[in-house]
Formats: sequence, structure tokens, C-alpha cells
Amino acid sequence: MCGIFGIAKHAEAVNMTYLGLHMLQHRGQESTGISSSDGAAVFTYKANGYVADVFTEEILSRLRGSNAIGHTRYSTAGGGGECNAQPIVAVMAGIIVSLVHNGNLINADGLRSVLERDGAVFQSTSDSEVIVHLLARAQTHDIMERLIWALGQVQGAFSLIILTRDSVIGVRDPNGFRPLNLGRIDGSYVFASETCAFDLIGAEYIREVEPGEIIMICGTEMKSVKLPPARRLAKCIFEHVYFSRPDSIVFGRSVHERRNRMGSILARESPVDADLVVPVPDSGIAAAEGFSEESGIRLKHALTRNHYGKRSFIEPRSSIRDFGLKVKLNPVRALLVGKSVVLIDDSIVRGSTSRKLIRRIKAAGAIEVHMRISCPPTMWPCFMGVDTPTRKELIASSHTIEEICRSIEADSLAYLSLRGLLEAMEADNEFCTACYTGEYPLDVSHLLAGQI
Ligand code: AMP
Repeated sequence: MCGIFGIAKHAEAVNMTYLGLHMLQHRGQESTGISSSDGAAVFTYKANGYVADVFTEEILSRLRGSNAIGHTRYSTAGGGGECNAQPIVAVMAGIIVSLVHNGNLINADGLRSVLERDGAVFQSTSDSEVIVHLLARAQTHDIMERLIWALGQVQGAFSLIILTRDSVIGVRDPNGFRPLNLGRIDGSYVFASETCAFDLIGAEYIREVEPGEIIMICGTEMKSVKLPPARRLAKCIFEHVYFSRPDSIVFGRSVHERRNRMGSILARESPVDADLVVPVPDSGIAAAEGFSEESGIRLKHALTRNHYGKRSFIEPRSSIRDFGLKVKLNPVRALLVGKSVVLIDDSIVRGSTSRKLIRRIKAAGAIEVHMRISCPPTMWPCFMGVDTPTRKELIASSHTIEEICRSIEADSLAYLSLRGLLEAMEADNEFCTACYTGEYPLDVSHLLAGQI
């Protein structure tokens, strides 16, 4: 994943980008960076760490200019080393380009080998740098023509924001895998992965960047062109299931509303007789509300989340069992003693979180725990930008629902059906659901084969 942000022709472009990145921190916590341009030079600062830790007032004051882009990174390709932090900056025949990328290219390795054979020297191991090398090779001076030529060769998921000396360009791949939105503030255009970034800075949401669209902002002028269309749209349904914030509009839809619908359809499909509906915070909250409203079972926040539990802790020498989860989530005994509980989470990946949670909820006094998951079983890895383990590690790829239920020690387990999920999204064919079905919108056989 990753969060990307960009703003053109705004007196406070760098500060706006810094604030926007705070709102996209959930999309990536490994590294962050900002590039800005004052029309003559491009200034960049990037480092591993959180937005709040990496940037100081002094660093921000060194980034000058009224155009800026930024990135929060969560690595799927290339690993988390500091060399892979973005923006990636390059000078090509007098043109300076700085680029941020959300997504994952599925033909990056092949392209990289060809480029290296031709003498390209890569600075990082990230797939995004391949795009920069292709841009450098285009036999034209026009940045739009360069982009169209370069992007014609890459396959996979790419939402991009590119900064040149005098423009900010937003791009979305023709399948529309990853989100990118266009907004407006004080007469300036702004791009962000999610609209929650617009809310903080007071920008107005205009619309999505359309799949295959390239929007170039030069000052206050906007120009839009389209890449050749894909065979089908393939917006990532997992953005709505888990990844995006509930206060965002993603793919033109409120994330909270869709999750809420997932929960109510789940309650209709797999009802359960219980005393309480309990969400796994934060990802299960909106679906749990929907489940509770539909079933009439009271919702109680019987798991408390520690929002400060992300950094590495110094554990005591006598290692505490399940320390990581305990730091993050703690059951509220007063709500759980003697109760039967419907526990709602968005997904089961390896199954270890659910098992630990159910043990702890029972240890806190609950007599039954019925697990309900607001999407279908996750059976296939994602190659389009979501960090999923290999097929072998996904519990649902080799276990039946009954076996998973036993493994996580639940009293019952049910998942939302694919039909139910698509009903919640009010769409049949615009989403990528490969993590549930194995029907990938692009040919990923070479990547799947690499996992066996
Ligand atoms: P697991 O213990 O592997 O089954 O993890 C399940 C938990 O991980 C659920 O609570 C999900 O909300 C969360 N989750 C699902 N997908 C991801 C992902 N790609 N990255 C991080 N967490 C995830």
C-alpha cells in the first residue's frame, strides 16, 4: 500500500502536504517523504519513520515552493530499506521529475532486467523506480508524452503523483486498482489517496481521478488525457473492507457506509443468538454497527485499543505470551463476564490474531464467542499492492471454514459471501476480488508460480 498526496500552486503547499500525509499515515508507516518545487529547483526530504517523527519545522522550512507531493510507504515490493523511501527524484535531459507511487507493478522484474542490461543504474530495489527509468528513456521532451510512453510498458497497479519544476500530475492505472482523488482548496488543485486528507486541510472533494486518467496541473490550469482503456475495471475491494479509513470517500463511495452494509448483510446471511456484538477495533467497528442494527443485538466496545502501541516496546526479559496483541487490544471484563459474544472483524489472514483474541475474551469471562467476518475467506495473495502472505500462509487456502473455526477456537464462524460483499458495494463487475476468488484481472501466473 502507500498513501500519496500532491498540491499545486498553493502558498502553503509543503505544510498542506505534511498535514495530508498525517491523514494517510495508516496507509504506510515505514517511511515518508515530501518533494516541493519553486519553479526553478526541486527540494526533497525523505526518511524511515512516521510523518510526525520525520519532519520538523526546520526541515519543512527548507522545502520551498508552491507545488508539493508526498508519500507514506508500506512496502510490498523491494523491502523497507531507506533507499526505497519516496519521492524518487531524477533529472532527465534537463527535466526534473519527482514521483510517488501507490500500487505494485507485476512486470517490474522483467523491465528492470532489460533496463539494467541497457546500462541503467538503479538506486533502490523498489518497483516504482522502473517507471522513472522508463520516463528517462522516452524519446521526447514533453512530459505527458513521456508518461504515456512509459506507462504503456508497465503492468499492474499504479496511482502516481509526479512533480516537475512547474506541474503536478496525478495518474491512475487503467484498471483503477488503487484510489486517487481530486480536490480543491483556495483555487488550487489537490490530489490524495483518500478524502480524509482533504478534510483536515479544508479542501473540497471534486471527484476521483478516473481509471486510466492523467491529470496535469500547471498553476491553476488543468489538463486531462486518457491512457488506453483496460479490458476491465478492477478497483481493489479490500480498500473498502479494511484498508481505507471509514471517514474517507474511496472509489466515489463512503467507506463507513459500505462497511456498515457489509455488517448488516452478514447479520442477515449468518445470524447468531448472542448477548453482545463486539467489534475488533478499529477495522471491525463499522461492520459491527451494521450487524448490531440488523440483528437487534446490542453493540458493546468490549475490546479497548491502545493507539500508542505501534512502536517497538522493550519487553521484560521473562517474555510475556502474546505481548504484541496484548499491547494493542485489551478486553473489558465488566462487559464480558457470563456473556455470549458475536465478535466482528474484517478479515482472517493467518488466523493467529483471531485465536489469541478469542482466548483472551473467554479468559475475561465470555461464555461463547461467535466469529463473523465482513468479507469472504482470503484465499489468494494480492500482487496489486496489498501486503498479503503467500498462499501457503493464508489459512483459508488450505482449511475449510469448520477447520478454521476449530483452529481459532470459536464457537461458530461465518464469513460474508462474495455476493453479499458485492451487494454491499452495489457493483458486480468494477472490483478486483482476486483475494477471494483467485480470478486475477491481469496475468500473474509468473508471480503465483514463484510462491510454490
Ligand atoms: P491474522 O492474525 O493473520 O489472521 O490477521 C488478521 C488481522 O489482520 C485482522 O484483524 C485484519 O484486520 C488485519 N489485516 C488484514 N489484512 C491486513 C494487511 N494486509 N495488513 C495488515 N493487517 C491486516
